[in-house]
Formats: sequence, C-alpha cells, structure tokens
Amino acid sequence: MKIAIIGMGVAGISVLREWTKEQKRDPSIQITVFGDKETFGTGKAYQSDDAGLLMNQAAEFTSMIPENHYDFVEWMRENYGEEDAASKFYPRAQFGEYVTERMNGWLAQSRAHIIQEKVETIRMLPNDRFRLTWPSQTAEFDAVHLCTGNLPYKDPYDLRDHPNAIGDPFPMDKKLSQIPHGATVGVVGTGLTSIDVFRYTFAHRPDVDVSFLSRSGTFKTIIGNAPSFENRYLTKENIQHAKEKHDGFIPLDTYMEWFEKELEFQLGALERESLDALGSKDSIKRQLAGNRDISTIQTILKNIILLQTDLWMALTETDKQTFLQKYYKQWDKLRAPFPYETGKDFVHAWEENIFRVYEDLADIEKNEESFTCHFKDEEPIHVDYMVNATGNDVNVSFEMDDVPLLRQMLDERLLQPERFGGVQVSVPDLSAISQKYGVLHTLKAHGQLIAGIQFGNSSVRIISRSARASVKDIVKRLKYRTEV
Ligand SMILES: Cc1cc2nc3c(=O)[nH]c(=O)nc-3n(C[C@H](O)[C@H](O)[C@H](O)COP(=O)(O)OP(=O)(O)OC[C@H]3O[C@@H](n4cnc5c(N)ncnc54)[C@H](O)[C@@H]3O)c2cc1C
Repeated sequence: MKIAIIGMGVAGISVLREWTKEQKRDPSIQITVFGDKETFGTGKAYQSDDAGLLMNQAAEFTSMIPENHYDFVEWMRENYGEEDAASKFYPRAQFGEYVTERMNGWLAQSRAHIIQEKVETIRMLPNDRFRLTWPSQTAEFDAVHLCTGNLPYKDPYDLRDHPNAIGDPFPMDKKLSQIPHGATVGVVGTGLTSIDVFRYTFAHRPDVDVSFLSRSGTFKTIIGNAPSFENRYLTKENIQHAKEKHDGFIPLDTYMEWFEKELEFQLGALERESLDALGSKDSIKRQLAGNRDISTIQTILKNIILLQTDLWMALTETDKQTFLQKYYKQWDKLRAPFPYETGKDFVHAWEENIFRVYEDLADIEKNEESFTCHFKDEEPIHVDYMVNATGNDVNVSFEMDDVPLLRQMLDERLLQPERFGGVQVSVPDLSAISQKYGVLHTLKAHGQLIAGIQFGNSSVRIISRSARASVKDIVKRLKYRTEV
C-alpha cells in the first residue's frame, strides 16, 4: 500500500503519525512524504522566526499526540527545563522545534521516503490510483493526503508588486528587519498578524513609525481570565438531541438560544455594551481591568471547540450565510484572542502613541517609493513602507496561478471549491468531493485547505485530531479493495 503525504506542516505530520501506527499493524504500508525545504517539519506558522511571536493557545492545548495532551508541556520541561508549562504561551518557533522533533521520530520509525520537493500535479488513473509528478520524478500511489496548508496572502489593495510593500510578513525576523532605519510603516489589517507586527516592531524596531490601518480600527480581543466552567446548554448532548430532532440539522436560532441562555446562566445580566467595539482600545482596557463578560464568552466558545466542525456542518447553507452576515465579525474577534501579557504591552504602546491606529481606510494609492492612505473622512497619510497583515486567503479557484498544484486539481475537477473557504470534503473522513469522480475516499484534504469545513478553527488541536478518521477510512477502503 503506497501512501503519499503532501506538505509537512501540522496537518501532514499528524497524518504521518497515524500512518506510522498503522504500519506497525501492516508492514506492507510504504509512506512517502513531500514538502518544500523551507518549512519542512514546521509548516508556515511555526517556522523559524523571532522568539517574541507567541502561540495564541496555551501549551496544554497544542499537543501533536491526541492521547497525551501534555506532550508539548512535557517536551518543554525536558528540553527547556520549563516547569508548569501547561498554561503558558510559548514562541511559535519553539513549538516548531517540538513539531519537527516529533516528525523526525515518526519518519525514522516508519522509514518513510522523504522528498523535499513540491508536488506539481496529481491525476487520477483508471485503476483508481494517483499519479504524482514533482520536478525530479513521477510515481503512482494508492492514496494521497493533501496537506499543502496556508494559501497565499490576500492582497485587497493590489500591493504585491510594489518594491516597498511586504506582501507576506513572515518570517518577520527576515522581512521586517530589512525596513530602512527611521521609515514610516503602514500595516494593513488588524487581525492576529498585525499583533505579530506589533510584537516584532515594539521589541526590535523602535526606530520605525508604525500606523495600523483598517476599516474598523479594532483588533482581536485578548485572552481573558474567567475561571473555567462547563457549559450547561451548549453541550454535546444537546447538540446530539437537536440533530436527532431536526433530521441532522440544528437551526441557527436554536444555537443562538443556547448561547443566550448560557450567557444568562454564567453572567446573570450581561452588560451588552461590553460587546460593543470589541478589540477597541477601551474594550481591551476593560478586559485588562478584569471585566469578565468577554472572557466568559471566550470560555463558552472554547468549551465547544472540539464540537465546532459538527455544529457548522449541522447548519443549513442559509443559516451559515446568516451567521456570516450577523455574527461573524464579533465571533471572529472572540474565537482566536491573543495572550493577556501581549495585550498589556499593546495598550501601553497605544496610549503612549508608540503607534497610531487609523480607521475607515478607503484606499491605498501606490506612489513610486511610498504609499498614500486615504480614509473616509480624515486627511490622507503617507508612509514609506506597507506591511500586508490581512492574512492568508481561504478561497480557492482554478485561476490561482500562485498555487499550481491546487490550480490543476481544481481545473480538472478532482477538487471542488467550498463556498466558505478551501475545498470540499466529507466529514469526519476528509475525503475529497470531486464533481468528476464522486467522493474520493483515497484522496484526503486536511488543515488549512479545508478551512470552510473545519470552519473558523485551524488550530493545532483540531487539525491534529482529525487525521485519525481519514487514515482509518483509507485503511478500510484499500483493504476492502484488495479483498474484492
Ligand atoms: C501566522 C500564523 C500563526 C498561527 N498561530 C496559531 C497558534 O498560535 N495556535 C494554533 O493552534 N494555530 C495557529 N495557527 C493556525 C495554523 O495554520 C495551523 O495550526 C497549522 O499550522 C496549519 O497547518 P497545515 O499543515 O494545514 O498548513 P501549513 O503550516 O501551511 O503547512 C503546509 C506545508 O505544505 C507545504 N506545501 C505547500 N504546497 C506543497 C506542494 N505542492 N508540495 C509539497 N509541499 C507543499 C508548505 O510549504 C508547508 O510547509 C496559526 C497560523 C498562522 C498562519
């Protein structure tokens, strides 16, 4: 049985872990892994970079071994002498070291064939196998896991080709260190990447003058310190009952009703104004001062993190759309908050005018060696450099020239775009859904590539856990195929 895993980030490494286990039961399994040299064994998020760029999950939630959620915590103790690591937030690059070490263990155990090249095409053959091509060779495989991860950066202001634009700021220790001394720098976007830009420039580039630019002028929330509790309404049991009652669906209204009841139970009367302008300076200051409302909501959401894919799949397409229109913006600010300690530095720097925040961004005009930023009602400002912090695109299409492999697979309808991001797969086995070939049980897609299915949650925890069902499904299908 020949298995190909394409992409060695968190998703591909989690799949490797599962196949290594399977190989102990069936030594005929041969594993080949592919990945680009630069991010082999870490993926994009955990590549080598500045130590100030922290995980946004505490160590106890970032294990690469689902049976032992303290695996990273123990690794930190063994390798860095860290005691009580469970609730701490560590540098992403350090997490990357851990992920690489685990990968190397599984590569050695499974004697996997390692190819540090990018796969260029995948085609399905009449015998249901897949032919892969990469720069140096072509070969056939019985099953393929597509773990190619983060898509290129969005570019809403068409900055890509400008010499003073930094289109993708990672790794920051290479890209942001090149900005000339004393430059004025605009940062477009106020998501988690903008917080990373803040961390880096605050620590290493006090000489540059940073302005954050966006429509809303608000950032994400910070991780609050509400005591942990169990949900009373938004629970696995209620989700199961509701699905049984509504033929596998849960109306969005039911979900919202549970959420309201949960809030009322946990907080009594919620001060609705705490939900206004989430991520504004005042709102972050309220959180730092100990306001519990936001952190209670964060805990409610954290408690259902492992049920999130199930909940999303239980909504009708209409309800998904309604959710996006009515609630997404607030939910997005709450679901992936950044660490409290960073929040303290951030508010301090904001108050001290160490950076500026502009809202109602209308357009960015490209000049020969600078940019003019236009706002709805305010006077324009000029900056020498522009950092794009708008994040990775989640939408795929057959016109994506930057991602030739996906382009080819979409063009030949081996894969189909999912309306809410990434490509379509069935859940929980992550089989690709092809318009041309039907459900492809031996072609799986994982991680960031299925952002519209594992909606709003590309965390290590979710990606790592979901590898198992996909591998078990392939084992079952290929075994059946050989028996028949
Ligand atoms: C900046 C950033 C910070 C994040 N922080 C956190 C966090 O703190 N906590 C958390 O839980 N989650 C975080 N995430 C979410 C994170 O994306 C996921 O946890 C995870 O890293 C995604 O893994 P992946 O394997 O799907 O993709 P990737 O990490 O992108 O890995 C895919 C790999 O495939 C390779 N590849 C691509 N195309 C090919 C090809 N054709 N052939 C061969 N190889 C190919 C890529 O080069 C890359 O190495 C963060 C994400 C980003 C972008």
